[in-house]
Amino acid sequence: MTAAKNTTSSTETVKQITYLAAALKAPRITEAAARLADQARDAGWTHEDYLAAVLEREVSARNASGSQLRIRAAGFGAVKTLEDFDFDAQPAIRTQAGALASGGFLTEARNVVLLGPPGTGKTHLATALGVAAARHGHRVLFATATDWVTRLTDAHRAGRLPQELTKLRRYGLIIVDEVGYLPIEQDAANLFFQLVSSRYEHASLILTSNLPFSGWGGVFGDQAVAAAMIDRIVHHADVLTLKGASYRLRGRGIDSLPSIRTTTSQTES
Ligand code: ADP
Ligand code: MG
Repeated sequence: MTAAKNTTSSTETVKQITYLAAALKAPRITEAAARLADQARDAGWTHEDYLAAVLEREVSARNASGSQLRIRAAGFGAVKTLEDFDFDAQPAIRTQAGALASGGFLTEARNVVLLGPPGTGKTHLATALGVAAARHGHRVLFATATDWVTRLTDAHRAGRLPQELTKLRRYGLIIVDEVGYLPIEQDAANLFFQLVSSRYEHASLILTSNLPFSGWGGVFGDQAVAAAMIDRIVHHADVLTLKGASYRLRGRGIDSLPSIRTTTSQTES
């Protein structure tokens, strides 16, 4: 009799949990509550332990799906992580990169600049820091410098540059890949400068470039704009310099890229 009554009331309770979880828009609670109830009884958990365990499942599931959404929305070319990065190829930046992965630079609105020759892992590391940022709950956008210029130019032409910059400030991290691969026209350079200014001390940027800062004047077609931009970027920034031969060419019997060989032979002649 008592057993039958208990079964009835627990069926009622399960129904009520299902209803309440749906009302909270947390349907996973229903499943966690049922699964963990047996575990809790077997292990003699307190009511508080049980409640915490159920809520913990819901929160971690939400965080994981939030991270996945943010990673997908970021527009990475390919998702890369720090775990995939072979720091033996870049031992000098191991400690710095590890510290950045904790995401502290984002809350301080600091920037990261990754410099180095092609194939040394700049895009990989920028992406990996972006993925880490998304996992820490930050909204992230990734694009090449050329794509950013197109986006800003379109907004400017449509007369909505200020709105676009405001919208972008809601992203904790913007990644600008490949500064220096293509020259940027002067008008576009000014728009890019506005992006840098609007984020200065508000939100983070990661930039990658195959050129040292001294070469940026040539990219932006104007030494003064480049200098003002670098000043703002570097004021609160970690600059990581990657070195060596291209990781893409490792083990292929090719020590350097053709352009590098040409430069070397010109220097020698
Ligand atoms: P960059 O942007 O500097 O030209 P990438 O980040 O695109 O170079 O790297 C080229 C390729 O080599 C990518 O597939 C990247 O994942 C890989 N790679 C580069 N460096 C490393 C590394 N240290 N460990 C693992 N993979 C690497
Ligand atoms: Mg790259």
